[in-house]
Amino acid sequence: EFKSGGCGAGLVAAGAARVLYPASRAGERTRVPGSPEPSSFPLHYPGACGTEVDMDPQRSPLLEVKGNTELKRPRIKAPSRLPLSGSRLKRRPDQMEDGLEPEKKRTRGLGATTKITTSHPRVPSLTTVPQTQGQTTAQKVSKKTGPRCSTAIATGLKNQKPVPAVPVQKPGTSAVPPMAGGKKPSKRPAWDLKGQLCDLNAELKRCRERTQTLDQENQQLQDQLRDAQQQAKALGTERRTLEGHLAKVQAQAEQGQQELKNLRACVLELEERLSTQEGLVQELQKKQVELQEERRGLMSQLEEKERRLQTSEAALSSSRAEVASLWQGTVAQAALLAEREERLHGLEMERRRLHNQLQELKGNIRVFCRVRPVLPGEPTPPPGLLLFPSGPGGPSDPPTRLSLSRSDERRATLSGAPAPPTRHDFSFDRVFPPGSGQDEVFEEIAMLVQSALDGYPVCIFAYGQTGSGKTFTMEGGPGGDPQLEGLIPRALRHLFSVAQELSGQGWTYSFVASYVEIYNETVRDLLATGARKGQGGECEIRRAGPGSEELTVTNARYVPVSCEKEVEALLHLAHQNRAVARTAQNERSSRSHSVFQLQISGQHSSRGLQCGASLSLVDLAGSERLDPGLALGPGERERLRETQAINSSLSTLGLVIMALSNKESHVPYRNSKLTYLLQNSLGGSAKMLMFVNISPLEENVSESLNSLRFASKVNQCVIGTAQANRK
Ligand code: ADP
Ligand code: MG
Repeated sequence: EFKSGGCGAGLVAAGAARVLYPASRAGERTRVPGSPEPSSFPLHYPGACGTEVDMDPQRSPLLEVKGNTELKRPRIKAPSRLPLSGSRLKRRPDQMEDGLEPEKKRTRGLGATTKITTSHPRVPSLTTVPQTQGQTTAQKVSKKTGPRCSTAIATGLKNQKPVPAVPVQKPGTSAVPPMAGGKKPSKRPAWDLKGQLCDLNAELKRCRERTQTLDQENQQLQDQLRDAQQQAKALGTERRTLEGHLAKVQAQAEQGQQELKNLRACVLELEERLSTQEGLVQELQKKQVELQEERRGLMSQLEEKERRLQTSEAALSSSRAEVASLWQGTVAQAALLAEREERLHGLEMERRRLHNQLQELKGNIRVFCRVRPVLPGEPTPPPGLLLFPSGPGGPSDPPTRLSLSRSDERRATLSGAPAPPTRHDFSFDRVFPPGSGQDEVFEEIAMLVQSALDGYPVCIFAYGQTGSGKTFTMEGGPGGDPQLEGLIPRALRHLFSVAQELSGQGWTYSFVASYVEIYNETVRDLLATGARKGQGGECEIRRAGPGSEELTVTNARYVPVSCEKEVEALLHLAHQNRAVARTAQNERSSRSHSVFQLQISGQHSSRGLQCGASLSLVDLAGSERLDPGLALGPGERERLRETQAINSSLSTLGLVIMALSNKESHVPYRNSKLTYLLQNSLGGSAKMLMFVNISPLEENVSESLNSLRFASKVNQCVIGTAQANRK
């Protein structure tokens, strides 16, 4: 069922005609507006529904069609519409229905009025127009509408409903004129031939008229059929067009649906993103709030800092003024400082001179006696074996005297009673009883060591029998205990620190260390590394150059040192080298002299001053003598040779010191490797200190006495006034 839209828009164009068939009262005339008044052909259809065709030439008729199928269905069977009074009309079922009263129609779902709007501008009423006039009118209308009818046309076939239910006379039935009042006309008497003829003529005439009418009607219906077919064709075309259009629209709709679906997915995605973004925004807002808080804090801090800055700037400007005045003061101070420096230098020189004088007054050759304590496991010596009488100043004075008591069993009294022990008194520059610590000992020699920095050669010996504590005094005790550190590490630390202090006065010092041992008159490098470790004999004492007084040991390492750690490493290396040698030869370390030498050179570049001296720290070989009464095996013979070499070198040392003391013209330096190596550190401007190490044990009394006697001889020597090695 078409309503409107699409081509319908064209159908409802201007000039639509409304065809109305209102239910009319029985017997009411039907008229077509715009058509001539069919007054000349009043039709009366008793019991039929009246039909009015209202045709508006201004409007295109809107057609309401009950399905296209109706269009195709041949509807019209050209019923006779002759208004035969009294005759029964043959009607189609629909026409029959039209003839029912309106109440009945409604119950069948049909309206009393069928309103059909066609696209025809005009559709003639096919049934209500008088036969002749209606035909012409229809023809006229057909002509008038012409092409428009061909494009859009209402079927209007149903419109023929209102064809009046004219009783159609069945063919073959006699046409009897209707009698008024429903009475049949009386039959003419047989004799009334004329009358019968007359009736027959009239009947014939009516038949002819009827035939004519039927022909016209037939013609008209054929026209209508043609029109209807055309309309059907046009509508078919239109339908196809519309179907095509519909398909297109459906495709578009589908596409639209798809797009809609896509858009919905898009919208969902966007919504999701939106929610994420909203979360982000909230987070950012929170962050913003925090940042704003922080900013406020920072702003307040900034303000505070600015306030402080202003205060500082004010302080700075006042400080600048102060600095300016201080600068002036500094310039004055600098001048004063230069003057003071000059004075200080003079004072330093004076200090050196006085220091030296003091050392000379103390003696260029000094002898310190050190008695080691009794070690655990050793027998306790008898009381009074060694005594340390206090000096003239009482017990507060540092001890300088030592008494050794020895009972001589050979000397017996005449009565046979043992002779009272002989007491031997010795006096030295200083005596260290067994309880004296390493620091106490070093304190006494620190000033002497400093003389080496001032340019005076210094030589310190440790003399005594094996096991009396020479190595302990020189290198220190076992285990690396700082309290037990010996003279070598302490002396070097002291020198480094004093050199550091003097650097403030413009002095620059450098130190080079060497460590050798002299065994059986052969020299061996204790700082040898690698393959040369533990090897000996390849070192020789030579002059540093032709005409040079300086002596060096060939093939020995001379290692520059500047800190304690380096010295520690060197002592450790020397200890290792001795240990290697010890496995080859029994207790060689105590049968050899160990000589640690430090070459010191200092310069004052701004004043062009130089000073150089050597500090020698010598751990002498054991001074004990071999008992001549012992049987001499092959090992003992070797030992005797060792001992002779040691004794020879030690007595040479004593002789050299004597010769220097007596200012003899010949000093026998060359008589031993030891004195030869040390010749520049002995005599002349040199300062010498000898430690005589004593064992506290009774069994060592004899050796102790020998050592004390040797030391006391040395102590009696005075070497001439020392001269600093200034260049
Ligand atoms: P030397 O070198 O004269 O043969 P050492 O120095 O080897 O003698 O000393 C022998 C032993 O006595 C070592 O065990 C050493 O630790 C110990 N000793 C020596 N002097 C002291 C001292 N003053 N205090 C404590 N122990 C000492
Ligand atoms: Mg030793």
